[in-house]
Amino acid sequence: MNYNKLTPGEKAVIVDKGTEKPFSGKLYDLREKGTYVCKRCDAPLYNSDSKFDSQCGWPSFDDEIDGAVERIVDADGVRTEILCDNCDAHLGHVFLGEGFTDKNIRHCVNSISMKFIAEKKNVKKAYFAGGCFWGVEYHFEKLEGVSSVVSGYMGGDKDSPTYGEVCDGNTGHAETVEVLFDPNLTSFEELARLFFEIHDPTELNRQGPDIGEQYRSAVFYADDEQKQITEKLIGILRDKDYDVVTGVIPAGTFWAAEDYHQDYYEKKNGTPYCHAYTKRF
Ligand SMILES: [Zn+2]
Repeated sequence: MNYNKLTPGEKAVIVDKGTEKPFSGKLYDLREKGTYVCKRCDAPLYNSDSKFDSQCGWPSFDDEIDGAVERIVDADGVRTEILCDNCDAHLGHVFLGEGFTDKNIRHCVNSISMKFIAEKKNVKKAYFAGGCFWGVEYHFEKLEGVSSVVSGYMGGDKDSPTYGEVCDGNTGHAETVEVLFDPNLTSFEELARLFFEIHDPTELNRQGPDIGEQYRSAVFYADDEQKQITEKLIGILRDKDYDVVTGVIPAGTFWAAEDYHQDYYEKKNGTPYCHAYTKRF
């Protein structure tokens, strides 16, 4: 079997069954979702769901991945030593009956015996143009499930356009926000509904006081599903007599705007002059 090469510090624990200093390990405080695997052979040992804070100074788990951990009587004849079932790497000890969690088990594991593999985050993107991007960004950032909103430009011809060029109105770009969201926490439909309620989708090539094609209303869809949802929502609004002019356009290259445009209202501690919530659905 091909094992990972160990540093002297790793060998002292994993092979020679030493114990790292409490509160010294990198994984002790980690709360992220993911899997803890064997440092030497990469076999999955523990899921982050079973990790808890025992305040003992070593990563603590109240359950192992099925079949991943072997128990033997420690050399001291009293404690129960735990090993990686795959490669016999020393992990630490397991204790019962301390009452930390409902399972009443504590795998006390040396941080140095493990590696952490973070769970891949599920992130999707959506692009909305609805007038001045400062205001649109402001509202999307408040939505649960949205991890990031970036102000920028889309829908024009020129690469890397500047704010000045877009404002002059010659590049064809619309001020657009890129919204990164977790589809487990929110949905494109929820984003799109909000979009239609924080700008006026009946205004052509303007939004309130901001006039020009760069302030046009558009959904730049990233996939067919986004297109269909957008068209459905526009249909609902038209049935309610809104004369929607929002463009439904395939997403092109998104050009992030200059730094001073990002988080504009947050930096100013202000609220948008141009975008207020209006219930339309
Ligand atoms: Zn192993």
